Amino acid sequence: MIRSSITFVASAKPLYVEVILPLAVPGTFTYTVPEGMEVVPGMRVAVPFGRGRKLYGALVRRTHHDDPLHRKPRPILSVLDAAPIVRSEQLELWDRIAEYYMCTVGEVLIAALPGQLSLSSETRLVAGPMVESFIPGQERAVFLLNALEDGQVVTLEQAGELLGLKDPLPAVKRLMEQGALLLEEQLQQDWKPRMTSYIRLSAENATEEALHAWFDRLEKAPKQLHVLMRFVELSQCLTDRPKEVERAKLVHASDSSTAVVEQLVKKGLFQRYEREEGRPDPSATSSPPPVLSAAQQEALTAVKQAFEKHDVVLLRGVTSSGKTELYTTLITEALARGEQVLYLLPEIALTTQIIARLRARFAEDVAVFHSRMAQHERTALWMRCVGEVPPRVIVGARSALFLPFVRLGLVVVDEEHDPSYKQHEPAPRYHARDMAIVLAGLHHAKVLLGSATPSMESQHNARQGKYGSVELLVRFGDVRMPVITRVDLRDAARRKLMRGHFTATLIEHIQHALDKREQVIVFQNRRGYVPVWQCSSCGWVPQCDQCDVSLTYHKFQHQLRCHYCGRHYAPPTKCDQCGSPRLQMLGFGTEKIEEELAEFFPTARIARMDQDTTRGKNALDRILTAFGQGAVDVLVGTQMVTKGLDFDHVSTVAILNADNLMRFPDFRAHERAFQLMAQVAGRSGRRKTAGTVIIQAQEVQHPILELVVGHDVEGMYQRELEHRRAHGYPPFMRLVQLTLKHRSEERVARTAQDLATALRPRFGDLVLGPEIPVVSRIRDKHLRRLLVKLARSSYRTDKEFLRDTIDRVFGASEHSSVQLVTDVDPI
Ligand code: ADP
Ligand code: ZN
Ligand code: ZN
Repeated sequence: MIRSSITFVASAKPLYVEVILPLAVPGTFTYTVPEGMEVVPGMRVAVPFGRGRKLYGALVRRTHHDDPLHRKPRPILSVLDAAPIVRSEQLELWDRIAEYYMCTVGEVLIAALPGQLSLSSETRLVAGPMVESFIPGQERAVFLLNALEDGQVVTLEQAGELLGLKDPLPAVKRLMEQGALLLEEQLQQDWKPRMTSYIRLSAENATEEALHAWFDRLEKAPKQLHVLMRFVELSQCLTDRPKEVERAKLVHASDSSTAVVEQLVKKGLFQRYEREEGRPDPSATSSPPPVLSAAQQEALTAVKQAFEKHDVVLLRGVTSSGKTELYTTLITEALARGEQVLYLLPEIALTTQIIARLRARFAEDVAVFHSRMAQHERTALWMRCVGEVPPRVIVGARSALFLPFVRLGLVVVDEEHDPSYKQHEPAPRYHARDMAIVLAGLHHAKVLLGSATPSMESQHNARQGKYGSVELLVRFGDVRMPVITRVDLRDAARRKLMRGHFTATLIEHIQHALDKREQVIVFQNRRGYVPVWQCSSCGWVPQCDQCDVSLTYHKFQHQLRCHYCGRHYAPPTKCDQCGSPRLQMLGFGTEKIEEELAEFFPTARIARMDQDTTRGKNALDRILTAFGQGAVDVLVGTQMVTKGLDFDHVSTVAILNADNLMRFPDFRAHERAFQLMAQVAGRSGRRKTAGTVIIQAQEVQHPILELVVGHDVEGMYQRELEHRRAHGYPPFMRLVQLTLKHRSEERVARTAQDLATALRPRFGDLVLGPEIPVVSRIRDKHLRRLLVKLARSSYRTDKEFLRDTIDRVFGASEHSSVQLVTDVDPI
């Protein structure tokens, strides 16, 4: 023992490594480094863990020489990386996240690393695209590759047996890099960038002479001839400044069809080529940056000044004020200083427009990262970040914040109020905006939070002087803010002016817009046809067997669906309770609205955008493209339509039932309702003329609607702040929500009670519950919920007490089978 440690000291090799395992176990673990292996922090190593022969790819947190006091550590089996794949700032960030969100560092590691980079015995492998290419020198790999080629799913443990290796991790890692195998990722739908098709003349036909020959040839095919003539016009191919022609534009301009254009491709006149949408034409010179308006220029100067005093600046810019142009100017400047930039967006799929704009400006400097991308693409981008030429601008959804940044100088959090920044499942249940601020702090970078409707928290921080604050309150091009009108649903019903869920006023407005060939967005906060069926005799409502929740009717599939667990059921023909066949439908969703629109506006082209219609691979893109190209007149949808859409021809926006939004049993309901309504209103009239917004509501006098109509962000903040102060909610108090789950209702109820009792001596009335949540059973587990309010002044110690109490209560054997979900800052 002594002798060996002397040898190590003599060779100055680290003796021990402290590693993070990709597991939800608390703490780090220590292993020894055998002679001849080189390890530094940030590399992965293969280690055994626990009883049995389970192996893990663990991440080295620290190397040291201090003899562990208690037990004799096992040696690491292999070193998986030649250089660190994680940087010290990231390790620091992981610690902060684990600490703040009360989870383990292992859970953060799992969330942070792309799946391919965190391996364990249970990791399930499938054949990769390159499985057939035989790799010389790895004869044993054949057994594994054959099994994979047969379509088998092989765990890493089984792979070890097939390879005849006790430690298969290095070999598996290599095969993965060669593309021979992939991780099996359930429910993972690979995200594909949206492609645009273009049409050009094939090389031999690009002369005037050749074209004349074609004009003659096509005389008998007038439709094709017409397309060709339009093409010549659009492309200006006979001039010295030819233009690119999108296939869709050509189809539109010639009033033709894709099929006709494709016939000309087949005949060899045209060639079709594709490019990722938003990627600039590589042969074109990049367009000069737009000239900022005076208001934008002023805001930009203010942001820069604010950065001199503050690390975080909140930019409140009304919808369509041109915030994105401000961001791009700041990004350009950061790049000129040699800094890296992170641009966070709440939802990648809904923001392809912004990515296109960034690509147009920063071309190949822009890398996109989000969890819906294919695993090998995510891994590749990660490796590029630790490589020689890291990407300079990274655009991503919340998980992008985990990438290994080198010289991060600026973080932009666009739509900072958006609740999708919060991760709900699984742990770490982090808020990407808040962690972006921590990340930036570690890099001494600046953070710009932008929104038309900032969150209460950020506004409060700005007013308290914790953040800098800048406002941009005019729309770009001096377009006026939309005019918002309320329509009284009760009154309309009394006067028999309702058709379905539409008031006569709303129908008139929509008709008016359609007559002028303008586009309309209809916002309804629920998907499906009608949310519930109900027995008209006894009031029975069909429920999910596994979850305590009413089922939603989906007309298209003629199914009842549970929106919590996804189970579906055939609609009942009679009441389960009293046997009556008289079942009636209550409430309404997007599908029903779509049907009504089709009835009221028979010639309008209608599309629906909700979770059901956007499930397929490129479904969402198709809808957005169609709407953008004017192939759709009315777009009806859920919250998805409120986010970031920037289309020229939307003049009218309708909110069908505002009461739905405001009556939510949640302290944030009013804030959210205001944000949603203001955001969806902001989709209208973004060019030239002011838009029209119609809000239908029963409670038309509701103060929130008053504030929406007045575009009164300030008034909203003041009103809401008083409520929050009076009732002890954020930003005055911080919340931790504890959800307990168990198959036995009695068990979960008792544990929840015991936990509450243990917390009361310190927190008293600040422990709310245990309560039975509105949905009290999910996937056959019963739920109980506690909400703990923590005062800002004693936040740290309170949280420590909370953590210790949880450990103590759940350490008792009777409670240990109860599952606990801890959510810090729940939203
Ligand atoms: P916001 O993000 O504030 O809603 P956008 O950045 O989307 O606003 O700007 C609204 C519209 O105005 C966009 O179509 C954008 O291209 C245009 N725009 C904004 N600023 C400029 C500018 N300086 N020059 C030309 N067009 C601009
Ligand atoms: Zn009944
Ligand atoms: Zn269910």
